[in-house]
Amino acid sequence: MSDNKYAQVKLISKPDNLLKTIYTACRTCYSSDSPLNIYECENAQNEEKMLKLISKVISSGHYSTIEHIQISFAISNISRACSHQLVRHRHMSFSQKSQRYVKEKEQFEYLIPDTIENNPELKAKFEQFMGKISDFYLELTSAGIPAEDARSVLPNAASTSMVASLNLREMIHLANLRLCTRAQKEIRILVKRMCDELIKEEPWLKDYLVPKCERLGYCDEDKSCGRKPAKG
Ligand SMILES: Cc1cc2nc3c(=O)[nH]c(=O)nc-3n(C[C@H](O)[C@H](O)[C@H](O)COP(=O)(O)OP(=O)(O)OC[C@H]3O[C@@H](n4cnc5c(N)ncnc54)[C@H](O)[C@@H]3O)c2cc1C
Repeated sequence: MSDNKYAQVKLISKPDNLLKTIYTACRTCYSSDSPLNIYECENAQNEEKMLKLISKVISSGHYSTIEHIQISFAISNISRACSHQLVRHRHMSFSQKSQRYVKEKEQFEYLIPDTIENNPELKAKFEQFMGKISDFYLELTSAGIPAEDARSVLPNAASTSMVASLNLREMIHLANLRLCTRAQKEIRILVKRMCDELIKEEPWLKDYLVPKCERLGYCDEDKSCGRKPAKG
């Protein structure tokens, strides 16, 4: 499977005043001025000044300031295996295509992992197997079995789509964990595309939307991929 066949991701919602909102939250903690005055003050028109303070505050671990920013993505063409990994992130919100309410009418769509795609013999068997599953699923639904029960035979490879939302703190956490080479390729590509979409709009976030080793300066996994030295 070429990388292009993995997740399709579009950023569909983000506050226009993202930087000013975070700046106001940061300054409010240290100023006798009201949040509204801070929001409307001269400094809040100066991107460089805002970024300097924001960077200092985030670096010191004062993460509540970035929890005010809510971001939403439209995601499609990911496997159920991948969506299951994503929904483990407890500070995210999801609205996922239902296998109860959306009945498959023909061969369900699925994703073939690269390692199988690259082996023609196994790929052919994989596709055959998906065909057999589909036949049985359709046999079940044709016999009157509701989709919510017939879906029991659908595989992890079945494709799905969702709207996923999260705040900026969780977005950074998600990137730190799932851009790491220890994460499975499909979710790594998905999260990279989420990050790229956001960085297109907010380039300053490129320093934060990185694998965790980039922020730590070392690798805290059992084995380092070599990007950063292992923790001594
Ligand atoms: C490479 C990789 C391999 C994995 N392998 C497995 C596996 O084999 N089996 C498996 O079950 N899972 C596995 N996971 C999933 C992993 O255990 C986490 O469930 C998932 O990454 C979500 O991470 P999180 O809990 O840090 O983040 P989130 O759920 O996004 O939460 C963010 C942060 O909020 C805080 N938080 C959230 N909820 C609580 C809480 N209840 N109590 C205290 N603090 C909380 C924590 O600081 C947490 O880091 C794997 C994840 C990765 C990246």
